[in-house]
Amino acid sequence: MSTEDRSLNFIEQIIEDDLAKGFAQDKLRFRFPPEPNGYLHVGHASSICLNFGLGLKYNAPVNLRFDDTNPAKEEQEYVDAIKRDVEWLGYKWDKELYASDYFQELYDWAVVFIKKGVAYVDSQGSDEIARQKGTPTHPGTASPYRDRSVEENLELFEKMRAGEFPNGAHILRAKIDMASSNMLMRDPIMYRILHEKHHRTDNNWCIYPMYDWAHGESDYLEQVSHSLCTLEFLMHRELYDWFLDQIYDETKTRPKQREFARRNLSHTVVSKRKLLQLVQEKHVTGWDDPRMSTISGMRRRGYTPAAIRNFADTIGIAKRTNLVDVSVLEFCVREDLNKIAPRVMAVLDPVKLIITNYPEGQEEWLEAENNPEDESAGFREIPFSRELYIEREDFMENANSKYFRLTLGKEVRLKNAYIIKGESVVKDSEGNITEIHATYDTDSKSGSGSEASLRKIKGTIHWVSVPHAVKAEVRIYDRLFTHENPDGDKDVDFKSYINPNSLEVITGYLEPSLKSAVDGEHYQFQRLGYFCVDRDTNAEKIVFNKTVGLRDTWAKIESKE
Ligand code: ATP
Ligand code: MG
Repeated sequence: MSTEDRSLNFIEQIIEDDLAKGFAQDKLRFRFPPEPNGYLHVGHASSICLNFGLGLKYNAPVNLRFDDTNPAKEEQEYVDAIKRDVEWLGYKWDKELYASDYFQELYDWAVVFIKKGVAYVDSQGSDEIARQKGTPTHPGTASPYRDRSVEENLELFEKMRAGEFPNGAHILRAKIDMASSNMLMRDPIMYRILHEKHHRTDNNWCIYPMYDWAHGESDYLEQVSHSLCTLEFLMHRELYDWFLDQIYDETKTRPKQREFARRNLSHTVVSKRKLLQLVQEKHVTGWDDPRMSTISGMRRRGYTPAAIRNFADTIGIAKRTNLVDVSVLEFCVREDLNKIAPRVMAVLDPVKLIITNYPEGQEEWLEAENNPEDESAGFREIPFSRELYIEREDFMENANSKYFRLTLGKEVRLKNAYIIKGESVVKDSEGNITEIHATYDTDSKSGSGSEASLRKIKGTIHWVSVPHAVKAEVRIYDRLFTHENPDGDKDVDFKSYINPNSLEVITGYLEPSLKSAVDGEHYQFQRLGYFCVDRDTNAEKIVFNKTVGLRDTWAKIESKE
């Protein structure tokens, strides 16, 4: 669905209203402002699609701004991963910017605040300050340092910056209103001392600005017109505006903060902090483990940028937080892969099928369509021989009349090949079937147009020729959490819901065209699902990840429960 096909979301409505009131369209400017303290996840994907989608819709620049004001948690690795993910989603930022680029300007403004008497250095400890905060119904108590002279404040603030004090000795606070009904307005912190090396500014700074102070001013410096954030910042808007009031120059664009609901996805967690725990405690193999809700995990799983963009557009932008079922995302993935993924044959739980009337040593290359959804995808050749693998599940010795796969005495079609009839089985001493013997109708070759090939046969099964089969490691994933909302109960550790069976590794047998498959390629293993080549593939082994099944099997399981 493109934005043209649906009604405006409430953010677009706000922009339309601003334009109608005379805001110039060429002044529209957006940003996506990640903190580089982890990898981006599916929730961020929604925010990226929203901001960059607005950029495309209004032909406006969108900045990628790293909100790097907390040196303790931020790293270059995360910056690189974020850039890779935004690009992979298909978006181009106008400028790559860093809140840390504005440290000097922010500092200079803070000095202006002190001179205007709207900021002061508080020398109390954090416990004391917390005690004085009051409650939403009781006003706070003023700090004994609130009325320090401008000179003393300036001197202390300079010394803070010069590194003369240890962490926690002083903070710079905005002087607003200790009785405000909005607790965030009760003299919020602007700077804290942190003797910590920053991934970009190194040891140049030992005081760092707080989010509320840095964010709006960064928006202003970049002349962002609409600063979109998630709902937990609703109460921060008053502070955002207060800071701007102190520095705003009427000739410039005044940024507007507007909030939308965080997007949460079922059966997973969307919080960098929690995803980091999964990585550090080795519940997954890394940030890009295909079970992770990270963008890099989804990419490795085989989800496509188009599917994720379409998902973001489908769930839209909301004013209330809700849990989106992961099946909606999987639907979008299937829909895109159905269009683009070449069809191939692979057998994942093999049993041998011998075509007893097919000459030993003979092979034949049959034509197979690559993608019935895409004519331009063309055809390929697949080898047929006397010994084939089929799925164990596709054979039943004693089947009833509703079973349309292979059984004894009945016919079934081998996809792209011949019609065969089950004749007998060979079993081991424990009664397990080790071989199925069948005969084929020599005139029934698919696509030959012969009368025999056109016979109506109820079932078609897939197969792979044994001597030509390519072995592969196939990783089958299930949901990482058994609970729909593992994060939903504050008293329960989300990790207690980890699904112990979220990964199964098996050996699959693939048609030989997949011998040269390369990292990132998507395929539909016919009748089984969508799979992609994993980056662990090398000259020795091919590794496939199961992206998603052909149908939503969970819906069935859950409706039975
Ligand atoms: P996390 O708790 O996972 O670290 P965050 O909000 O702290 O999330 P940021 O890097 O600060 O992460 O977020 C960058 C942008 O992405 C912000 O504008 C934020 O509001 C938005 N965002 C983060 N999580 C979601 C989500 N689940 N749904 C929609 N937008 C989100
Ligand atoms: Mg954050």
